[in-house]
Amino acid sequence: MTTRRKFIQIGTLASLAPISRIFGMKRPPMPSKPVVISTWNFGHGANAEAWKILSTNGRALDAVEAGARVPEGDPKESSVGLGGLPDRDGRVTLDSCIMDEYANCGAVACLEHIVHPVSVARKVMEKTPHVFLVGDGALKFALEQGFKKEKLLTAESEKAWKDWLKTAQYKPVANIENHDTIGIVALDVNQNLSGACTTSGMAYKMHGRVGDSPIIGAALFVDNEIGAATSTGVGEEVIRIVGSHLVVELMRQGNTPQQACELAVARIVKNQPKKSKEIQVGFLALNKNGETGAYALQKGFTYALYSNEIPNKIFEAKSYY
Ligand code: ASP
Repeated sequence: MTTRRKFIQIGTLASLAPISRIFGMKRPPMPSKPVVISTWNFGHGANAEAWKILSTNGRALDAVEAGARVPEGDPKESSVGLGGLPDRDGRVTLDSCIMDEYANCGAVACLEHIVHPVSVARKVMEKTPHVFLVGDGALKFALEQGFKKEKLLTAESEKAWKDWLKTAQYKPVANIENHDTIGIVALDVNQNLSGACTTSGMAYKMHGRVGDSPIIGAALFVDNEIGAATSTGVGEEVIRIVGSHLVVELMRQGNTPQQACELAVARIVKNQPKKSKEIQVGFLALNKNGETGAYALQKGFTYALYSNEIPNKIFEAKSYY
């Protein structure tokens, strides 16, 4: 169900385009505005939706929200939104955040029953004096805002959970579907940056566990003077280095987006030399000029990039190991 499905997804894309167009390019050429970049293969569909907004002079904030909603609403994606794999108690709990060009931000964590947590995070940003709502409070707020209560556990995810219960071993494996997140950052034609991140988190986590994905500074950070960054992978390691904030600050110090992602990954290796060999973490970065970077601990971290020069292609990031 895991590696095989990833392979099938890439295979489907490959049938639409020559394989060289998907994996053949070593380094993306420098793009012009607008630009959108997002994690994993499902970034392709997310970028396509975001591009509808960006290419008609829309705001990056609207684009990243629209993009993130694509995998959230897809019951076949078992790591985000509807159909996301549950925690070890069989509950699907979602984490998400969003940030705009004015450093406005909103987040929700451990949110149940709502298909589009990214849109709830946006409402937290726009309609409350707060940044972060969690659990029952986040659900109550979402319902007050008119979001519908829905069952997120699909028959497929329930079956996967029941199979997992037979051994009940929590052991994240690199690049398989139990730890994928969509992180998406964009630069619009007005040269404004925004980002969003959304996930069902690590499959079979403890109930109440929150990863990096809804934490501003960890899985997402936007500084409109400098750039934006997002992450995926084992959230605990990203939180420990406040990863996306680190990437943006490294760009502020003069590093390219690629160098900044590489330095952040190296920080994880320095913190956890042994553990870093067994887990996956990946970063994406986009600077104010539309230059991008991508780097991961392990091979296999894919991302999708859409600009005028690169009409939505999937690349594999370079990796430390
Ligand atoms: N970062 C997410 C988390 O730790 C999972 C992932 O990206 O795979 O919850």
